[in-house]
Amino acid sequence: MAEVKYVFITGGVTSSLGKGTLSASLAKLLQARGYSVTIQKLDPYINVDPGTLNPYEHGECYVTLDGAETDLDLGHYERFLNVPTSQANNITTGRIYQTVIDKERKGDYLGKTVQVIPHITDEIKRRIRLLSLGNQYDIILTEIGGTVGDIESLPYIEAVRQMKWELGPQNCIVIHLTLVPFLTATGESKTKPTQHSVKMLLEEGIQPDILVLRTERNLNTGLKRKVALFCNVEENAVVESINVSTIYEVPLNMLNEKLDQTVLKKLGLPVNDEPQLTEWRDFLHRLKNPKYFIKIALVGKYVELADSYKSISEALIHSGSLNECKIDVNFIHSEEITDENVADRFKGLSGILVAPGFGSRGIEGKIAAARYCRENNIPFFGICLGMQCAVIEFARNVLKMEGAHSTEIDHKTRYPVIDLMEEQKSIIEKGGTMRLGGFRCRISRNSKAYEAYMKPEVTERHRHRYEFNNKYLDDFKNHGMIPAGINPESNLIEIMEIPAHKWFIGVQFHPEYSSTVINPHPLFIGFIKACI
Ligand code: GLN
Repeated sequence: MAEVKYVFITGGVTSSLGKGTLSASLAKLLQARGYSVTIQKLDPYINVDPGTLNPYEHGECYVTLDGAETDLDLGHYERFLNVPTSQANNITTGRIYQTVIDKERKGDYLGKTVQVIPHITDEIKRRIRLLSLGNQYDIILTEIGGTVGDIESLPYIEAVRQMKWELGPQNCIVIHLTLVPFLTATGESKTKPTQHSVKMLLEEGIQPDILVLRTERNLNTGLKRKVALFCNVEENAVVESINVSTIYEVPLNMLNEKLDQTVLKKLGLPVNDEPQLTEWRDFLHRLKNPKYFIKIALVGKYVELADSYKSISEALIHSGSLNECKIDVNFIHSEEITDENVADRFKGLSGILVAPGFGSRGIEGKIAAARYCRENNIPFFGICLGMQCAVIEFARNVLKMEGAHSTEIDHKTRYPVIDLMEEQKSIIEKGGTMRLGGFRCRISRNSKAYEAYMKPEVTERHRHRYEFNNKYLDDFKNHGMIPAGINPESNLIEIMEIPAHKWFIGVQFHPEYSSTVINPHPLFIGFIKACI
């Protein structure tokens, strides 16, 4: 078996240029050419993982099958590649330091002074190499979070510099993503920020092998040649990445720019015939040529930042394409909804999705949304807290349990229909302590959930502390809300639905995390079908 090859992706000039999308797109093309690839993200912040971060900080927290709380870019990797990621695919500075400091306390450094170089950089390199241990991959792509020049990312850049030196140019390359801004006043695209960004990288000891230029206008060959000359890269290694209407088009753009071929040549790997992208192209074709148009609501309390619900938005795009339907998602703030204005706020919408969340802010709005859907036979999809809200609503208004609530919000409620899981009761620490990752779920045959999955058992990803309180299960069943999915080991209720309703499903897990371009999630497909 040949040595695994490494591709590092750094970013310059500004953040938010789409390093994650670029990494996922390149990986997709390499995969489509028959290579086994994975992508890893190195995050410069000191949190051990993003699990304790508010979504306003860096967007949603993505959860892997093995229960890691990770950066949302891992969601892009999975959606593009259709292969699961794991804890090893996301590393933060906090985790690196935690490991090094734990070792120091144990005395593993034998009296040495523990320093950024070599101890922190060695630990970074060890984590990067971890993914190669099972000989599973031909190429490992590693995205370095942040922007070159940031203090925080220096140790990562230094680790990359060392790896490049240790492995040699055919085994390790660096792609630098920068911005070429267009100045309307003079009508020109400017290369200076790119030149400066590359200089900064050079100061840190790295000569990039490939430059990808984000731009709003097409770049002419003269400009590309200029960048190549001043930044010391080959002319064909200057790649244009123009703005596109959907991120799912980026792989095809990169294919046109021959980014995959340039990478493979630099790594000394053969470029075989055409990449296998039929399913991808079909997906894009359906996405761009819809037969149906619907508007739905996404009700949440972090709606000001669309990244807070990244995986849900993408899962809607996947299932929309499969149903040949263009979905216009209205993000509605749960704090703004009341029983009085709910009908007005949801006028003209075909379905309502109530988002996950934590804490009391906006919860009554989510409950009102569930009630409106239940009473008016409007498709309802509740995810995690969204499902819990549907349960609370049903208890209050159908079972007449006045003041029914989740003990997360009201720990003195007379009807704790949602309650803390037994194993959570003794846990005080916040980080990484929820019910996390994949758990089995047995689906009842006579249910809408079964109609969607067409399978008696599935595994879905979780991230919660509270659960449906089984003490009330008979009451719910007798009045028309049934448990359509149950975890066989713990008996925890994973899916609640109202069979008499057009489509009313609440799930305790997060189906959005496992929806991909090639495999849109069955429940999202079913929800959109019902909305159409
Ligand atoms: N706050 C709820 C719980 O911990 C729901 C969590 C979620 O929506 N992810 O159970």
